[in-house]
Amino acid sequence: MIILARFDDPQGRGQASDAVIVLSSFSKMTYRLSPHCDLDAAEQRWQATLALRPDLEPAIVLQRRLLTRSQELTTIVDQELPATLNLEPEQIADKLGRHTPILVGEPIVVDAQPVVPFVLGFCEDLSSGEAGGAAGRLGETLARGEIDIGSLMAASLGRQQEAIRSKAHHVGVAPDLLWLVSELACGPVAYRLQRQLLTDLPKQEDKLRLVIDTWNHGFCAACGSWPAFGERIKPTTRRTLRCSFCGSAWTPRFWHCIYCDKTGASLITADVEPEQPSRHLELCRQCGGYLKCIPVRRPTAFGLLPVEDLSTCDLDVSAVEQGYIRPAMHTFVTGANLPCPPPVVT
Ligand SMILES: [Zn+2]
Ligand SMILES: [Zn+2]
Repeated sequence: MIILARFDDPQGRGQASDAVIVLSSFSKMTYRLSPHCDLDAAEQRWQATLALRPDLEPAIVLQRRLLTRSQELTTIVDQELPATLNLEPEQIADKLGRHTPILVGEPIVVDAQPVVPFVLGFCEDLSSGEAGGAAGRLGETLARGEIDIGSLMAASLGRQQEAIRSKAHHVGVAPDLLWLVSELACGPVAYRLQRQLLTDLPKQEDKLRLVIDTWNHGFCAACGSWPAFGERIKPTTRRTLRCSFCGSAWTPRFWHCIYCDKTGASLITADVEPEQPSRHLELCRQCGGYLKCIPVRRPTAFGLLPVEDLSTCDLDVSAVEQGYIRPAMHTFVTGANLPCPPPVVT
């Protein structure tokens, strides 16, 4: 594929330059990724994509603005994580053993004060794109304090899509936009939490490491999101799933649908370009879900996951044209209830 060929970079930019692949005794693959995104590498990827898909220019212009702001937010989050989650390693291992993602249902405390300017900034960025006036209205609603941003971020980190949608309906803003803005604001926070909880474990936590390495569900062990795509690093034959919200990487069960776990004849592989069979779709005729799979030289860095997702949108288009979908967020029964608070009258 020409896009990926151009993405090859002699200096290793564009993907995590310090990526380390660790093969455990269970042959499970985990990643240690660069915490930083190289905006120059993103620019190279955008230019390569534009050369092939000039129609994507408006989307790329918007993504450039969002990613630049997101990198500024990442710097703030790196200095001091504005979220508190108190979980002991034994509790995490127990939760994963019950097939429940770590962040789901937890009382996450968020100090939104340093993030508020970025939330409003993302609304401003989005108002320059197709979202236009709806994004502007959302920004005004948030600026008036009609939605508690700390509560919104806690709900987003816990992937409480329904709570966020209900809040959006309640205050009269677009639900999808509120979800997107909360994702943009929480992404760097989720990434830091994911690294703390799954990746940067102290040596003595071998038991927890084993539980993490054996996670093979279709949804993310940290946040419960479905992956943005699967990536395959030659000569590995298995695909590794990537969560674009928190950046985690994990290996699912071989030849099982990541959504409904069916295997056998209901799962098929479809090449979009016959000359590039490693760049393909996994289609499930049981649940109608699809997963796009792409070859990469190295694990994609966290900040570049949305860039890669956009640059491979031809695969999404092909899947949708064939009648397949990305299922809605997986719901988990935890007994927790952390809805956004009622609106504050200003
Ligand atoms: Zn995740
Ligand atoms: Zn399925």
